[in-house]
Amino acid sequence: MNKRTIQIKSGTLNKGPVVYWMSRDQRIHDNWALLTALRFSKENKLPTVIVFNLTGGFLGAGNRQFGFMISGLEEIYNTAAEYNIPFYLLRGEPGVNIPEFLEATSASALFTDLDPLKIKRKWLKEISAKVKIPVYQTDAHNIVPLFRVSGKQEFSAMHFRKKIVPLLREYLEEYPPIFKAEKSGMNAPSTDFESLKKEYAAPPFEVDWISAGPEGAYKTLENFLHKRINNYNTKNDPNSNSVSGLSPYLHFGNLSAQRVVLNIERMDVDPECRASFLDELIVRRELSDNFCWYNQSYDRFEGFPQWGKDSLEKHRNDEREFIYKRSVFEKAKTHDPLWNAAQNEMVLKGKMHGYMRMYWCKKILEWSSSPEEALQTAVYLNDKYELDGRDPNGYAGIAWSIGGLHDRPFAERPVYGRIRYMNYNGCKRKFDVEKYIQNNMTG
Ligand SMILES: Cc1cc2nc3c(=O)[nH]c(=O)nc-3n(C[C@H](O)[C@H](O)[C@H](O)COP(=O)(O)OP(=O)(O)OC[C@H]3O[C@@H](n4cnc5c(N)ncnc54)[C@H](O)[C@@H]3O)c2cc1C
Repeated sequence: MNKRTIQIKSGTLNKGPVVYWMSRDQRIHDNWALLTALRFSKENKLPTVIVFNLTGGFLGAGNRQFGFMISGLEEIYNTAAEYNIPFYLLRGEPGVNIPEFLEATSASALFTDLDPLKIKRKWLKEISAKVKIPVYQTDAHNIVPLFRVSGKQEFSAMHFRKKIVPLLREYLEEYPPIFKAEKSGMNAPSTDFESLKKEYAAPPFEVDWISAGPEGAYKTLENFLHKRINNYNTKNDPNSNSVSGLSPYLHFGNLSAQRVVLNIERMDVDPECRASFLDELIVRRELSDNFCWYNQSYDRFEGFPQWGKDSLEKHRNDEREFIYKRSVFEKAKTHDPLWNAAQNEMVLKGKMHGYMRMYWCKKILEWSSSPEEALQTAVYLNDKYELDGRDPNGYAGIAWSIGGLHDRPFAERPVYGRIRYMNYNGCKRKFDVEKYIQNNMTG
């Protein structure tokens, strides 16, 4: 097929269209999964259709995330029509809906994108078991397909970097332009996005500082590249506006990371800022996918590295100065105004600055009665409130903070054991803590 695609199931072509089940990569342009489906359709003189399945709930996501996603899907629906690609929006269980759709349309083949999360893998398994047509999966999210970089879980960014960097020359290629599909004669039923948006736009969790969809993503990228990337060396100061703010778009696949890199390559960017940003965008981000793909305990204590588990085990019964229940964390009612400010930032805006995410999560470990409880609290809050939550980056970031994933052992101390420690005074040395607290006060 091609170097980014794996065949999940073989089968015989039917008479109907080639179906692209869009899931993780919600965009028309710069999408290897869609391009692969279109090429296959062209070779076999078949039309292409896109199907998207909206589930009732997804890993704790609520109105905030669904509202953002649906606005993006509306734009994608309209762009797809420009390329003669009917876009069907289904609602319910993908494991039931997709096979029924394939059957009803006498689909010839199924293409989809790749997601390392357990639930997505379960759905694809269920679908593949029910159909008799060929099924293909393309890694349209990573620059180098995760199955190509490494065949195992990598334990440090250094090891992963050594593997991925030599492959970038081969994979960092310009996308071929998208082309119009064969006219299908199929008309997707019109989707009432207005009422869908109303359904998901209920307060109090909607966000209004970010505009959803690929267009909003390109604008944010342009703004970052032309105005802010050269300040990226201040990325650890939550009061500086120097980070990209691209994570919601990357998470929903409204923007391809490969496009971000290709556009940076054409610009004259400060070398230090460029290197630091690309290391986050390529190495850290794709390392998170490697973690979740090869370690399906990515959201459990068992998924931590052995040294981290051993060390946390040894300190399990250490006395804690403060112990808070999940509800206290959720309401930002701890004794620490800096932690509360970070929690407020996330609840009110659906985002938290990257540096504060580390502090926030490490304090949840310090103030919970066990590492397991800390992990559950962090995953629950992150997935419920962050626009970019429910993402391999989130599970890896939490496992890094609590369990030492992709990190090294540090000097032993209470509760943390040998897990890296962070404290208020360390933050004070790095940035204006009072300013951050003032900016994220409630009421
Ligand atoms: C406890 C904790 C929870 C986190 N939860 C999430 C989450 O739910 N979703 C999420 O996308 N990221 C998460 N991260 C990773 C990181 O903090 C965010 O990706 C980043 O803050 C997003 O802001 P940005 O797009 O402005 O980042 P930038 O600094 O502009 O970086 C650009 C891109 O690089 C990637 N990136 C940056 N830092 C990291 C990192 N440490 N690990 C992996 N990829 C990275 C992201 O895709 C990001 O959008 C978490 C980190 C921690 C420590």
